[in-house]
This record gives sequence, structure tokens and C-alpha cells, in this order.
Amino acid sequence: MSRIGWRATIVSTLHSHARVRANSAALIGREGVVVAVLRNGTAALVQLDEHPFGLPCGVLRWPLQWDDLDLKEPIEVACPLDYVVGLSAGQVHAVIPGTTASLCSAPVRPLPFCGWSVRFSPHVSRACPMCAALVTGS
Ligand SMILES: [Zn+2]
Repeated sequence: MSRIGWRATIVSTLHSHARVRANSAALIGREGVVVAVLRNGTAALVQLDEHPFGLPCGVLRWPLQWDDLDLKEPIEVACPLDYVVGLSAGQVHAVIPGTTASLCSAPVRPLPFCGWSVRFSPHVSRACPMCAALVTGS
């Protein structure tokens, strides 16, 4: 999964290049965004938020090892779709949130105690085999 666009806070420079480490005092604590992935995916090019005049040598983009960054997924990325649990004939089915349609098209009802709020897991013992197979893509 690409981490371009993720928010990054520089928490260390220990793992990064000597040029980065030499400026650690000016860099640690700064925030920016990952604009590129470098070195076969082992490092990030982070573009800092601040104006270049406030930065060492006016450099706005720094190559940093992932271990030196505290990363946050961008807020605008939608969560992957989770299926919720529906019951039918003693089995647990995967249901598309906001609907009463299970993946295997069995008629389902919500859990009596918490409604449609429980995430479906294909690993529970009473999981419907067809729903589990469809969820896991197997
Ligand atoms: Zn099912």
C-alpha cells in the first residue's frame, strides 16, 4: 500500500542519512507529508509544512527512514468496507452495512443485543462458509 500522502511527524533522525542527522535539532518535531517513496520503499521523502526560510539550508523536502517518522493515514481516505454480522438459522453471515442483504443472500436479522454493529469475522466458529469465502476472497 502506498504511503504517499500520509501525514508524517519527524520523531527521530537516527535511522536516516548523515545529512539528515546533522540537522536533527531543526527537524525533529516538524510535520509534513510523504511526497515520494525512496530507496526501494525503505525511505520516505517528506515535504515539510513550514516555509523553506525557517528550515536548514532552506530545504523543504527531506529523505527519512520510516522508523524516524510517526505516520498518520490521510483523513480523506475511506475506511475499507467492513461487513457486519447478521444471523440466520444459527449461522453468522456477513452483511453489507446499512442493508439486510447477506453476501450469500440468506435472509438475516441483526444480533438481538447490539444490532448491526458487530464486524463480521470469517474466523468465528458459526460463520457461514459461503459468506466467509466471499469475504476472504477464497
Ligand atoms: Zn452467509
